[in-house]
Amino acid sequence: MISVTAQANSASASKPNLLDLDRQGLEAFFADIGEKTFRASQVVKWIHQKGVTDFQQMTNISQALRDHLQASTVIHMPEVVYDATSSDGTRKWLLQLDDGNRIESVYIPEDDRGTLCVSSQVGCALDCSFCSTGRRGFNRNLSTAEIIAQVWLATRLIDEEKKPGRKVTNVVLMGMGEPLLNFDNVVRAVRLMMDDFAYGLSKRRVTVSTAGVVPAIDRLGDLLDMRLAVSLHATDDALRDSLVPLNRKYPLRELMAACRRFIDKQSARSRITFEYVLLDGVNDSEQHAKQLVQLTKGIPTLVNLIPFNPFAGSGYSTSPRKRVQRFYEVLAEAGINTVVRRTRGDDIDAACGQLVGMIEDKSRRHRRFEEPRIGMQT
Ligand code: SAH
Repeated sequence: MISVTAQANSASASKPNLLDLDRQGLEAFFADIGEKTFRASQVVKWIHQKGVTDFQQMTNISQALRDHLQASTVIHMPEVVYDATSSDGTRKWLLQLDDGNRIESVYIPEDDRGTLCVSSQVGCALDCSFCSTGRRGFNRNLSTAEIIAQVWLATRLIDEEKKPGRKVTNVVLMGMGEPLLNFDNVVRAVRLMMDDFAYGLSKRRVTVSTAGVVPAIDRLGDLLDMRLAVSLHATDDALRDSLVPLNRKYPLRELMAACRRFIDKQSARSRITFEYVLLDGVNDSEQHAKQLVQLTKGIPTLVNLIPFNPFAGSGYSTSPRKRVQRFYEVLAEAGINTVVRRTRGDDIDAACGQLVGMIEDKSRRHRRFEEPRIGMQT
């Protein structure tokens, strides 16, 4: 095992955590202490590319600067408190933060890639009716360090498996939380994911998924060239109001207009992924599929159909296979790129909407402290 916990335990709350800084931030940090700004690229490389968290191993940095960094800063990660691999190869980690909150990250291997699903908040405030994360309330935003540490840890822990082909090639911010309600920390973390001195993921391999925070979609488009996924789930406002309450604030017409503006700002060949959870008898008719075709007209689109992952007390059930097939066909016949997401990691509760961590709910909705469901077989 890599020894991040020793480092973590000795961290002091008052010292800056270098994981909170992207390269721009580190440049400012070094400028402040009278150092050359190229130190930022060196340190980013040591930490994120080489996985080195011991300053004394950063050999292209002078001894004096190493000592200074060691004395005045930390490189501090959450602690891995649970690590399980599903029978289908999906791997899930439960990470404990300094304040005792717990978050989850999931690694999903496929033939041609390995996708890491990253959390952006402890819990979620949006309360989408079909999502078990949302049902458990909201506690706080994750720091940039807590977001990028998920990538740092997964990269190293997957590497340790020494299995050919298993590596993090894609990152999706589709874990716990609404990334666009934690805008600045998410943007800094995404910059690191895409930085050639850090993880060097291309703009097609980093995806932010949002329930539709319209002003933040605009700001994101201004700042970054990257993938956007929008959790649509309904094609009219009345239904979407009930599934995704955020729709009352930013209704479909505004959301789709924001998607168009986002695409216009991106480099060529960009497209938006629309996620659509199929709920039996709620949003899964042929008529709904046809409306989806109309709604996405003129937007380069990939539709991601997600079979609902049921959980106790949700009040919804999964659409029958035949209806999923019909929904898919309507979209495909209209020339829309469509994929049906396979449910992965079911046996370790790693599937969509099942990332519940352990949340001390700060919203008024629920006041309770939940144990994670970690019963599993590997
Ligand atoms: N808040 C962001 C990202 C987190 S949710 C967003 O809404 O996009 C990641 C995806 O999982 C979303 O599309 C969400 O709607 C979906 N999801 C949530 N609960 C689900 C469930 N029970 N079954 C299937 N998908 C679910």
